[in-house]
Amino acid sequence: MMQQSRPSSRGHLLSLLALQLLFALTIAYQTLSDDFLRNLTLAESDFDIHNQEGLLAPILIPRVPGTPGQAKTQQHFVNFFRKELPDWTLLWQNSTGTTPVTGSRQIPFSNLIVRKEPPWTKPGQANYLTLVAHYDSKFKPDNFIGAIDSAVPCAILMHIARFVDKYMKQMHEEMVALGELGGTVPMDMGLQILLLDGEEAFGSSWTSTDSLYGSRALAEEWEHTMNPALSSYRDPLSQISLFVLLDLLGSANPRIPSYFLPTHWAYKNMASVEDRMRKLDLLETKTKRPFLYEAGKVPDQFNPSFVGDDHEPFMKRGVPILHLIPSSFPDVWHTLQDDGEHLDMPTVRDWCKIVTAFTLEWLDMMEIVPEPEQS
Ligand SMILES: [Zn+2]
Repeated sequence: MMQQSRPSSRGHLLSLLALQLLFALTIAYQTLSDDFLRNLTLAESDFDIHNQEGLLAPILIPRVPGTPGQAKTQQHFVNFFRKELPDWTLLWQNSTGTTPVTGSRQIPFSNLIVRKEPPWTKPGQANYLTLVAHYDSKFKPDNFIGAIDSAVPCAILMHIARFVDKYMKQMHEEMVALGELGGTVPMDMGLQILLLDGEEAFGSSWTSTDSLYGSRALAEEWEHTMNPALSSYRDPLSQISLFVLLDLLGSANPRIPSYFLPTHWAYKNMASVEDRMRKLDLLETKTKRPFLYEAGKVPDQFNPSFVGDDHEPFMKRGVPILHLIPSSFPDVWHTLQDDGEHLDMPTVRDWCKIVTAFTLEWLDMMEIVPEPEQS
């Protein structure tokens, strides 16, 4: 780990600002205080499986690519971001492909990219904490919902974007007021949400060509998208500071291993957030074993196996990955029982709080810039 200090101008400006702003800065630029953690609230109605005005319920429908459910889900995302976060950038990355079970018909796959970066950054300058989930659902069985797979992760990411927006706005405004024009990794941090399409295989077995339709298309496109000359980062892939993939979250008692040594430091940060929130009694689940139970894993305990998922096309291209997926998979996985009624709502809400806190800490705590570790 490499220590890098904050720009020194923060120190002397404090005296110029009102007490209220001082307080705001204090909470914005440190490891989240206990009080900050206590303020990480969420509206239960957003995750109420019957509330069509909330974040989750509209996603609890079949969402197979090329069907009306896919389009309805996309519309839900667009409506939300346009209304709640109008100054975030929304981009669609589209591709089409055939599958082993849908004949010669070209199936559309559309990834939604939503991002916000500091206002002073030029194209190719910002680095993005990148939070990822897939929104498509399985072709078979008919009427498969995929609540943990991955309607809940999508709703969690929507919540996080809205929750952290006000803090990002405040931080950026303060830095602009100071005349800070960026140019360092900690100052040029943004947040990017990827809602990916076509993760599921259409056929009965997962193959390298029948799965990951959306993520493969996006990673390939970004590999060949060059940022302007003299940008801080040569392409959109290298702008991803960390790719955090949420999948199969929402069943009780998840056990999330630390899969990758190079990002174990990030896993430990999230585990520490979970641990602090449990000790402060801020989480609803009362479990002896934390969700992120492998903070103490040592290098010799890592092995090359991992779970195939949307991170693969990015990992192959050198993007650092934190994969939040339980091992073993929840019992409802790929069955008709993976619906709203089978979710464990305290677990859903706890995940939401943990990943929100991690995101806020990431966006604040960049005096710690990890060096890539050798695996
Ligand atoms: Zn699945």
